[in-house]
Amino acid sequence: MSFQLFTTKFPCKLCNTEISFNINDPQTFLSKTQHESFFGMQLTTYRVAHTSSSNMERHINVVLVDHAGYFRGYVDAYSEEIKKKEEFPRQRLKPTFKILQERFPNPNEHNFFNLLLVLDAKEYWALEIIAPQNLRVYPLLEFITRKYAEMEQIYTVLPAKVNASYADMELNLWLKDSKIIVASFKKNKTLEGIDDLFGKIVETMNTERRIPQKKLLVIMAKCLNYLSHVTKKDVEFCLRILYDDRLHTRVYTKYEQYIPQIVKRVSSEFPIASEFLEDVLLGRISFIELLEQNYAKNFREIAEIIGFINRRKLL
Ligand SMILES: [Zn+2]
Repeated sequence: MSFQLFTTKFPCKLCNTEISFNINDPQTFLSKTQHESFFGMQLTTYRVAHTSSSNMERHINVVLVDHAGYFRGYVDAYSEEIKKKEEFPRQRLKPTFKILQERFPNPNEHNFFNLLLVLDAKEYWALEIIAPQNLRVYPLLEFITRKYAEMEQIYTVLPAKVNASYADMELNLWLKDSKIIVASFKKNKTLEGIDDLFGKIVETMNTERRIPQKKLLVIMAKCLNYLSHVTKKDVEFCLRILYDDRLHTRVYTKYEQYIPQIVKRVSSEFPIASEFLEDVLLGRISFIELLEQNYAKNFREIAEIIGFINRRKLL
């Protein structure tokens, strides 16, 4: 009988403290999600928590680990305040909105959108993805919540998409239960196929019961910058950007000697691959980092390259 006592180690993304846990001991992590094979790797996402040195915060790292227990990359990291019981605020009569992940910067300019928000009209949180610098977001959120309440009153089943005007803005709202994406387009700009994409995202937020990271929504918005219309494939890949943890991995392969051949093969189909594929296969950069840095404009090719390598099991 073998029992693996291997310990997985990685530095906390927030405070750099070394964290260790055991993939065979559920007491050492909060949760795990297994994924299908990706670039020859069997990856699992683990959520691991530790208490910061000040004892005031709990740091939660969401990390990818391969089947052998080696750390392969961060998906996310965030901190939670540890509150003593008596410090919990009393329930307020009127709930107020919480803007999540505020510190992550919004892109300054977008080809299509003046405004892009994601929110939950019942749980009272919002993510500000793109917004004019002079916008007061709270009155707008209140307006949308009122609008949502009106809709709930008159419809037994909410429509998937509604329009509304507020101040000088024409708002487009995509809804699923209380999850809402709000967008206002620039003058004379529309993006064909966007209904499919935003409809799918609000739906997925409900089924996955997970709010996408703001960083990933910003990356997705960057990718949309370069489109003339959104295709079915674009919708699929945008959902992967938001929800497929494997795109955060640092690839590791035992067969490093084949990498030059693979790069050559893939680059003959997709020339752009010659710029970055070696770095990806050597685990220097993840696909999400590629999109974040310079390659949002190439996101369709990147989606094809990932599919090409996985389908042909080149690794
Ligand atoms: Zn930490």
